[in-house]
Amino acid sequence: MNLIEAIKGAGVVGAGGAGFPTHVKLNTKADCLIINAAECEPLIETDKYLCRTWAPQILEAILAVKAHLGASRAVIALKAKYQPEIEALSKAIQEASAPVEIFQMGTFYPAGDEQTMVQQVTGRSVPERGLPLDVGCVVDNVGTMLNIHDALKGQPVVDKYLSVVGEVKEPVMLRVPLGTPVTDCVKAADPNLSEYGLIVGGPMMGKPLIKEEDIQGAVVTKTTGNLIVLPKDHYLFQRAVKPIAAIRHQTRSACIQCHMCTDLCPRYLIGHKIRPHMVMRNLWREQELEDPQEYERVFGEAVNCCDCGVCEMFACPMQLSPRRVNQFIKQRIREKGIQVPRSTPTPQARPEIQLRRTPTGRLTTRLGLAAYYGLHAHSCQELSPEEVFLPFSQHIGKPAQPVKKEGDTVERGELLAQAGEGLSANIHASISGVVTEVTEKGVRIRGRKE
Ligand code: SF4
Ligand code: SF4
Repeated sequence: MNLIEAIKGAGVVGAGGAGFPTHVKLNTKADCLIINAAECEPLIETDKYLCRTWAPQILEAILAVKAHLGASRAVIALKAKYQPEIEALSKAIQEASAPVEIFQMGTFYPAGDEQTMVQQVTGRSVPERGLPLDVGCVVDNVGTMLNIHDALKGQPVVDKYLSVVGEVKEPVMLRVPLGTPVTDCVKAADPNLSEYGLIVGGPMMGKPLIKEEDIQGAVVTKTTGNLIVLPKDHYLFQRAVKPIAAIRHQTRSACIQCHMCTDLCPRYLIGHKIRPHMVMRNLWREQELEDPQEYERVFGEAVNCCDCGVCEMFACPMQLSPRRVNQFIKQRIREKGIQVPRSTPTPQARPEIQLRRTPTGRLTTRLGLAAYYGLHAHSCQELSPEEVFLPFSQHIGKPAQPVKKEGDTVERGELLAQAGEGLSANIHASISGVVTEVTEKGVRIRGRKE
């Protein structure tokens, strides 16, 4: 079986957050393979744990993917301060005499954004709304590489590593079957609070869960890499639930046009046409602009926003929300059917790019997370839930189609749902047991008592 077929069969998708089906992404040729181990957002521990624990296996997968792509370079990019991880990877590279480089990045946000990473490693800027492949690169997460390693041994994706941090006794790493309730994960980390809110992912781009029913219904998927346990009234939740009407009102009255949101915007710094301060300046007349061409001229740049949140969570001295405003404008542009052309096919990074990085430590303080920064997970627990719920959509693209029905007995690793045509991915049983429910959203399995 070739590499693409093995990856497709195993249901591998991008493990770093986006969930792009890997067999589609890698079905190409590229000059440079970049492995993202930079842990983009503060507090997440997962990539570091994988690098320390599975370096030889990760390397094996990198070499297989490098050969498949015909890449002249393979580079593992991670933060220079990750010394134990760099040592583990360097040892594996040395022992295998492997042609793989290690690229050490600064401690800034968003170091793990793939466009920022491509610019740092190669000096090339990906075009606006483009892909790393547009400049000859493929970027994949280190967790994806571990899943590719297993896929080449015939093992499907059925488990997930994730860290649980924040208001817990101490940060922990977990290895859990896909579909495990997130409440089981929090319980295993011994939370300090009886009532809590959760962020699934990182504090900047993760998904906040505040309502009890949302928390109770959430499960670990192929893209869940981290859970942050926080008090329900935490600053991050207050920002997340602010209505867009209030944000518009505040923008009109409080934006001082200081330009900081633009100066520190990572997409602006790699040379894209995006100036959030201009969108904020013109927001007051958004409802009056009816001519599509004029709307595109005034607000079109908002489509180049990647939602990283630097502008609103770090740059803005008035605590305004350019990111939320850009999201609102993007929605309006879609509704109006306006097509925004790229400003240039070959953007160039701005000369000040290295001087305008957002330092992770200071960002963490601004986010109200300083108490948890610098705490690390040293051990890994394995959980065995009694029941799992496996969603059909754990990836970008079409949901997988169920091949099992209620009452069927399944073994761990057996196919539960088949990838749809095009962009989609297989889903496998993560525990052995009986299918107790098949809904539009996914499959529930009750585990077999051994
Ligand atoms: S940083 Fe804030 S105050 Fe300054 S221009 Fe941007 S939105 Fe306005
Ligand atoms: S969220 Fe803000 S800083 Fe990030 S890309 Fe969008 S405008 Fe730029």
